[in-house]
Amino acid sequence: MPETIFALSSGSVPSGVAVIRISGPKVRFGLETLVGFVPAARHASLCVIRNDEGVVLDKGLALYFPGPNSFTGEDVAELQIHGSPAAVQAVLSALGQLAGYRAAERGEFTRQAFANGKMDLTEVEGLADLLVAETEAQRRQALSQVGGGLRALYQDWAKRLTHARAMIEAELDFSDEDDIPGSVSDRIWSDMKALLEDIRNHLAKASYGEIVRTGFKVALIGPPNAGKSSLLNCLAGRDVAIVADTPGTTRDVVEVRLDLNGYLVTVQDTAGLRDDSDDAVELEGMRRSRMVAENADLVLDLRDVTTADPDESRIGAMSIRVWTKIDRLPASKPAIQQDIGISSKTGDGIDSLISAILDRIVAKQSNMSEVVPSRGRHVALLQSACSELDTAVGSGNVPIEVRAEYLRRAADDIGRITGKVDVEDLLGVIFSEFCVGK
Ligand code: GDP
Repeated sequence: MPETIFALSSGSVPSGVAVIRISGPKVRFGLETLVGFVPAARHASLCVIRNDEGVVLDKGLALYFPGPNSFTGEDVAELQIHGSPAAVQAVLSALGQLAGYRAAERGEFTRQAFANGKMDLTEVEGLADLLVAETEAQRRQALSQVGGGLRALYQDWAKRLTHARAMIEAELDFSDEDDIPGSVSDRIWSDMKALLEDIRNHLAKASYGEIVRTGFKVALIGPPNAGKSSLLNCLAGRDVAIVADTPGTTRDVVEVRLDLNGYLVTVQDTAGLRDDSDDAVELEGMRRSRMVAENADLVLDLRDVTTADPDESRIGAMSIRVWTKIDRLPASKPAIQQDIGISSKTGDGIDSLISAILDRIVAKQSNMSEVVPSRGRHVALLQSACSELDTAVGSGNVPIEVRAEYLRRAADDIGRITGKVDVEDLLGVIFSEFCVGK
């Protein structure tokens, strides 16, 4: 018999209320032992919680959700108790004493839900994202995914592929008979062409999904003293809500995470090493700057307006030339025309810079619903499905059995996204994103 698992599901103690969740076949036994009765399904009942020696541990509320209509699909109970470390500890140890009970691992409740078909993998991933969502756009995207947005779409695609394969099977089975109209096959391939188009359109939105989830990456580049650090500090110090101020992945990359109009934007400055006179260190610093710029969604190319020549050559489309220190602009200098001019000292032009960044994000979002591939995993499998489907559709001269095999592979790719097809090795990775208690 599978074990019954339990964990503190609410946040860290002390807190006003702590919620302890229990799931598994022996939930009713646990309630009877600790609470003295099994509460009516899905109703909060006032209760006294005792250990198996009858010692009172706390008073609280008990809820019972009989499976399969529960989060995990098994019997589930929740004990809402006082959020003190001692009360929580006492109840957790009492549960640990019960036969067939053990503490839950990270994400184990969700894993049970997945195993029992209550959620598919995209919903699990959406839940992981929702629990750590920091911005409005992240919350909306994750909520749509938890609600089955991607699941419905991918299930529909899988169904179309299955239907096409079934029709091909039928055609093969009855190919000796004359009464199977040839147009069946035509209909299949026109639908498969349409499906290919649907997947391609969906894939085109992937960069937006990733941006919402992991943040829109803005890199600051420019010669030493162009004003990169000052701009970073200025952005961080403004009253835009700062999500976090974290050191970058390398010692010399400084990153500030901003919430701009509900979008997570990470601004990276690679300034750390450039003042060092050691050539090797400087070179390494430049290499890292280039790497950050290459991986960025947008590059801000900063130039000191008092020293740089305004006619300097233009840079790529995914970058914006930003003239700095405009408070020191000598009246005789020509106007900066279409570029953005800022002063980190006075704050002039910073709002225009922020709107320019937002424009770039919103441009990626045009006509976008929140049903978008949100992870590299989805994108890779969708690309593979596209390529299989493309081959199937485009191979008019190969035997139909071979074309059907390409369709099967495309269906497997879609099945891997939702978790229907061999994903055992993936599960550990996905569920490790969760905390204990979820
Ligand atoms: P970085 O090397 O590109 O990071 O440049 P810094 O941000 O360290 O700035 C270099 C120098 O320019 C410092 O002395 C700053 O105080 C100064 N500076 C930066 N931004 C401004 C500005 O908007 N106005 C003025 N007057 N000075 C600035």
